[in-house]
Amino acid sequence: MAFDFSSSRFKPFEKKLWLSSPTMHGEEIEYVREAYETNWMSTVGMNITEAERVTCEKVGCRYAVALSAGTAALHLAMKLAGQELYGQPAVNKGSLDGRRVFASDMTFGATVNPICYEGGIPVFIDTEEDTWNMDPVALEKAFEIYPQVKLVVIAHLYGTPGKIDELKAVCDRHNAIIVEDAAESLGASYKGIQTGVFGKYSCISFNGNKIITGSTGGMFLTDNEEAANKVRKWSTQAREASPWYHHEEIGYNYRMSNVTAGVVRGQYPYLEEHIAQKKAIYERYREGLKDLPVSMNPYDAENSAPNFWLSCLIIDPDAMCKQVRSETTALFIPEKGKSCPMEILDAILSINAEGRPIWKPMHIQPIYRMNPFITKTGSGRAMTNAYIEGGAADVGMDIFNRGLCLPSDNKMTADQQDVIIDVIKACYE
Ligand SMILES: *Cc1c(COP(=O)(O)O)cnc(C)c1O
Repeated sequence: MAFDFSSSRFKPFEKKLWLSSPTMHGEEIEYVREAYETNWMSTVGMNITEAERVTCEKVGCRYAVALSAGTAALHLAMKLAGQELYGQPAVNKGSLDGRRVFASDMTFGATVNPICYEGGIPVFIDTEEDTWNMDPVALEKAFEIYPQVKLVVIAHLYGTPGKIDELKAVCDRHNAIIVEDAAESLGASYKGIQTGVFGKYSCISFNGNKIITGSTGGMFLTDNEEAANKVRKWSTQAREASPWYHHEEIGYNYRMSNVTAGVVRGQYPYLEEHIAQKKAIYERYREGLKDLPVSMNPYDAENSAPNFWLSCLIIDPDAMCKQVRSETTALFIPEKGKSCPMEILDAILSINAEGRPIWKPMHIQPIYRMNPFITKTGSGRAMTNAYIEGGAADVGMDIFNRGLCLPSDNKMTADQQDVIIDVIKACYE
């Protein structure tokens, strides 16, 4: 009868099993030590130069600018695109002042917040079922409704490349610039080409839980030299060439530290190893869960190679127990042979392991609730509107309701993963 939280059948792990935690290898500390011992302890140094070079080599872009975070890279990408499309803004205005920007809906808030930093208005585009990324059909619909839009922010969720050809075709047809959020997908490829080169401007992240990490940090990627130079200048307080601090533009303190870059540099040789481990975890879950009424986060096996950053599952609609979610809590009614994300997450937590709900779609976030939301069948604002369009027209909301992220740490042993799988099975007993 569902998961028995009172039973001692599953012994909690002694050490917490994380969703996705940093995995260090030893080289990182050597590069950090080198920075320390040579006193390159600022935002200049060999580690930064090398981390940028290695990134260009891996991703296949011409320029990489190391920044304090992926979010900073997205912010400066927005600012660049805004100036390019709409010209230099008036003093104290953002470069997207009042303009609409299309954006992925089911993603981390950091994909879309930078639109607002520049004064833009995010218009959320619904998700498709095949890769859990932006739906090209809904995007086309959005251009019908808002033909003046010229900028689109596209994320690759959980390390799975989206429908890049289709999305690019729609954007090309409408002369729109793509900013690509590859924060979660470093090392993933689409038709043999790495994510991070599909946007005019792209970003990657080295946040602590990403596929490789600098403890923090991110990079701005582009093939455009002028753009790279601008981002480098803006990220270091926008100094002009002058003996004193002379400013003609607003600046930011967004440059990556040479210490952080040392960690990034030490991690890069292990990127492929991490991806192989994450892929093995994904496949072990898929095999272990195959008799349950669930499936794994989907990808286009023919055209794409994800980095398998997080393994997720989604419960079949008829195998969902009753669940109700308020803004910040959830209740469910346990039922034999059925389950729901909160039951599975609670069960996993009861053995000292960390899962996570799917990214809560942006269009139902309190800060963005009044923003437009476009599905393949029409437009709405709140989730109720989207549902009125019929069935699961709001695909992102449906995935949020039925899906969850599983413990995906690349240090998880096969034995530990087997316990997680047994716990999930117990939810269906
Ligand atoms: C992590 C992440 C970011 C932000 O990267 P930071 O380095 O944490 O600022 C942006 N978008 C997505 C989809 C992410 O997962």
